[in-house]
Amino acid sequence: MKKITRGKLFLEENYSLFQCPVCQSDFIGVEEHSLCCQKGHRFDLAKKGNLYFLIGASKNEYDKEMLQSRYRIAQAGLFNGILKAIMPELTAHQKKDALLDVGCGEGSQLAFFADQGIKGPKIGFDISKDAVQLAATHFEQAFWCVADLAKSPFASAKYQTILNIFSPSNYQEFKRLLADGGQLIKVVPAENYLGELRQLLYQDQSNKQSYSNQEVVDKFKEHFPKMTVKQVTYSFDLKENDFFDLLEMTPLQWGATKEAVEQAKKQPLKSITVDVVLLIGKK
Ligand SMILES: [Zn+2]
Repeated sequence: MKKITRGKLFLEENYSLFQCPVCQSDFIGVEEHSLCCQKGHRFDLAKKGNLYFLIGASKNEYDKEMLQSRYRIAQAGLFNGILKAIMPELTAHQKKDALLDVGCGEGSQLAFFADQGIKGPKIGFDISKDAVQLAATHFEQAFWCVADLAKSPFASAKYQTILNIFSPSNYQEFKRLLADGGQLIKVVPAENYLGELRQLLYQDQSNKQSYSNQEVVDKFKEHFPKMTVKQVTYSFDLKENDFFDLLEMTPLQWGATKEAVEQAKKQPLKSITVDVVLLIGKK
């Protein structure tokens, strides 16, 4: 089946999960390859079966190389321990329980859950066009779109689970989107996340060698007071290419200098610590 046909079939079955980001009215259906709202706004499926809801310029936070690196290291399994820890929270999903991945990046995390047999429609979105194109290239297990939570194309109270893995939050919006009894699962780095890499890059800045997520956890608790917290910590063995991908993927976000990155390339790490907390809140 062509990717655009697959995308069309998904929309025909699931258009009620979306709302028009221009006028906030409901979508009434799919014509040809366009999703159409009550007031006549249309959004066309791209060849790869993905959709661009975001109108105007999207600010590109990630460049393509960095996304490719993230894809490769995700395929190598760096994040699998995190995803496996999330699995028990998703196994109760029924055929109609929608899963939304906020800031899905290059798509591998949502594809993982689809491959594990988690039921229900799966939608991944990101503000980065490059990320969504990569996701649509590699994975057919989910529906991908470019969107911005500030101009949300998602309908109210339709989502059983919202995943928010290493990406910014908009709690008001999450609460609007969650179905009654739905859950928000947020993953944030913990103190020793990629600790060996931090030490390598910030050898003379000890204040940058560790990280505190306290502010993020407190904020989550304000919005979801009955939250549960799960710590996930493991060590991942790095092959040489994995190390270079890791180096390509992370330091830019941390603001490391080019010199520090060049220096780090000469001292490849053999293993890396993954240390995160899962914050789980129910509506
Ligand atoms: Zn509209």
